[in-house]
Amino acid sequence: MSRFLSQRFSQIKPYVPGEQPQDTEYIKLNTNESPYPPSPRVLQVVNQKEVEKLRLYSDPEVKQLIQQIADFYQVSTDQVFVGNGSDEVLAFSFMAFCDQQQQICYPDITYGFYQVFCQLFGLQQNPIPLKQDFTVDYQDYCDCGKNIVIANPNAPTGLSLSLEEIEQILKTNPDHLVMIDEAYVDFGGTTCIPLLKQYSNLMVIQTFSKSRSLAGARLGFAISSPEIIQDLNKIKFSYNPYNVNRLSILAGSAAMQDRLYWEYCTNEVIQTRNKTKCALEQLGFTVLDSKTNFLFARCPKISGEDYYSKLKQNGILVRHFDQERIQDFVRITIGTPAQMEQFLQVTKRLMEEETQ
Ligand SMILES: *Cc1c(COP(=O)(O)O)cnc(C)c1O
Repeated sequence: MSRFLSQRFSQIKPYVPGEQPQDTEYIKLNTNESPYPPSPRVLQVVNQKEVEKLRLYSDPEVKQLIQQIADFYQVSTDQVFVGNGSDEVLAFSFMAFCDQQQQICYPDITYGFYQVFCQLFGLQQNPIPLKQDFTVDYQDYCDCGKNIVIANPNAPTGLSLSLEEIEQILKTNPDHLVMIDEAYVDFGGTTCIPLLKQYSNLMVIQTFSKSRSLAGARLGFAISSPEIIQDLNKIKFSYNPYNVNRLSILAGSAAMQDRLYWEYCTNEVIQTRNKTKCALEQLGFTVLDSKTNFLFARCPKISGEDYYSKLKQNGILVRHFDQERIQDFVRITIGTPAQMEQFLQVTKRLMEEETQ
């Protein structure tokens, strides 16, 4: 730390991203990226002509992409905000809507960025424990007197709340913002976008990073009331008006238009996930029910940390979280069928070595 760092940041523990090795070829099942390339339409629009146009600023209103998102989800364009990854959308939302008076709460086991943002923006941390079975108890959030952010499906557990439960949360918190982070909703979950018609305190956040194979393009979006979207724009235009680059606007628009490819890829992942879950259960693993592109699983023989290390020695990366209650689990991103076959074979071998 330099002697210049502002006092208010001295204690922050930044978010730790999953490993992104730039050299060795790993089977990468650790950061929930898609194993499939982006839609072929993306390659068509990101061409030489557009690369030459990088000398020009991008559209600060992101009109083209917002139109595609609005068309896809049947909402109006003034209900859509686009950010440089949904991480930025979340950051702008924390900035816009939370302070010492207007606090925010979230599950204790969830996406790690929520508590990092609390530290960054000087907010009190308000984690609410998950139930014993790792589900979110929606009643903990009813009439809770704070803003709320919940990943649904949740990460890294993969478990979901029903639309009815989310509706109860919305109904009982009319004067607080309820942010539902739907990063994984396309893998078998149910979006709460239809609830926007009835609840003006709802913000739905989604990303292009998982189901649309564009993690490296950094694109995320919020769908909410026009007033809330206006507030997000106020923050954006006070911070980074060109937050989405030209090539990502084109890539995102093309990906959003290719509904068939999106359906194909998400279905493949769902099928591979279900097969992998069965195979792990046959090996004696505990595997939480997943509506996402990952499995949260506990090996019956090897500790979470050892299992993670041994997989890594065998060229397979998964994610291990050194957090109470989940230390013996690992989060396994669903790859291609061939990658998961390899993962299962290595796992079987490791378990056999353990019994010898
Ligand atoms: C991956 C993820 C994000 C971040 O997505 P980006 O759009 O890549 O910033 C947000 N929330 C959850 C729960 C995630 O898993």
